[in-house]
Amino acid sequence: MERDGMEGNNLLHFLDTPSAHYRLNCDGFEAENDADDRSDASDPANARELLECLLNQPANKFCADCGIPDPKWAALPFGAFICIKCSGTHRSLGVHISKVISVNLDEWTDEEVHCLAESGGNSVVNTRYEAFLPENKKIKQDCSTEERNDFIRKKYQFQQFVCDPQFSCPLPLNKKQAQDKHQQHNSNKHGFGHAFRNSWRKKDSDSKGLKKMSDVGMVEFVGLIKVNIVKGTDLAVRDVMSSDPYVMINLGHQSMKTKVIKNTLNPIWNERLMLSIPDPIPPLKLQVFDKDTFSSDDRMGEADVDIRPLIAATKEHENSTITELTELYRWSASEDSNGVLAKDSVISIANGKVKQDITLKLQNVERGELEIEIECVPLSQ
Ligand SMILES: [Zn+2]
Repeated sequence: MERDGMEGNNLLHFLDTPSAHYRLNCDGFEAENDADDRSDASDPANARELLECLLNQPANKFCADCGIPDPKWAALPFGAFICIKCSGTHRSLGVHISKVISVNLDEWTDEEVHCLAESGGNSVVNTRYEAFLPENKKIKQDCSTEERNDFIRKKYQFQQFVCDPQFSCPLPLNKKQAQDKHQQHNSNKHGFGHAFRNSWRKKDSDSKGLKKMSDVGMVEFVGLIKVNIVKGTDLAVRDVMSSDPYVMINLGHQSMKTKVIKNTLNPIWNERLMLSIPDPIPPLKLQVFDKDTFSSDDRMGEADVDIRPLIAATKEHENSTITELTELYRWSASEDSNGVLAKDSVISIANGKVKQDITLKLQNVERGELEIEIECVPLSQ
């Protein structure tokens, strides 16, 4: 299944600025760190300051899952502050799903501090992971261990409350067509698919911690992908004059969606979604919908993105010290035989982060473009 899914990509292919989130979350901290967050976050004093700032936000003073006051643990990559009881359940999911660290005791890496800061803390986590939580289904402080386990698994591992239940089945791929496209893509692009896949596998076998399988579908994860849904341009009309668009992304069996922006054909989301990267690596699927209150949501186009070149580039430049913005690879829109690129797509590196910017021409729709930025974080970090 996954294998077939993997062949289904058109060409494609990121970015984000962690500092944007500091701006949202920690005004005071941002001012000092905007210029060069990498070096600053490696400074233990600054990392501690950022954590304190996050812990002082009102939503982070209560466990994201059960509401017990004064949580002392954090669950990554979600970025939730949780109590000691819930931390036990999170640990049982395995570090490939939820990595629990102590706010006080553990030494945090830059990546962990960034990951938490970028998540926005409990209010953002719960807005996302409990978006469709049925009423009265949230656990209470004094719930049983079974209830706690059941809730946390559904919330984070199966992500049952992220999406509207009506979207549980992603579109089936047209295998033959997808395969042809994939072969074309591999033959005329830089061909670093093999190089990076091999490099990631090597790392996998070195690290026993990554060998854990999730107990659903035996999926193994090799990293995280941050997808910043920037904006849509000239989208299709689905209501009388306009649309209420939102974007849903899928990677393997995981899915997430952005908020709905009402009454516009040029929505600006600037919303970052994070997903685990399964191995083998499937294409990132993006679908735009028009939110309808009284009927099912209308389709406004879709596009698939091959994230493997980005992962290859990330791997290749893992220990890079490049600080200037440097272009690594460029895909020309005019030579994109799949017709998915609206503009040239560029993988670039700055401050040690490899990112890719992509403007997609939405497929299976009369018009519309979608701009995204993607970045990946290997689990080995
Ligand atoms: Zn709790």
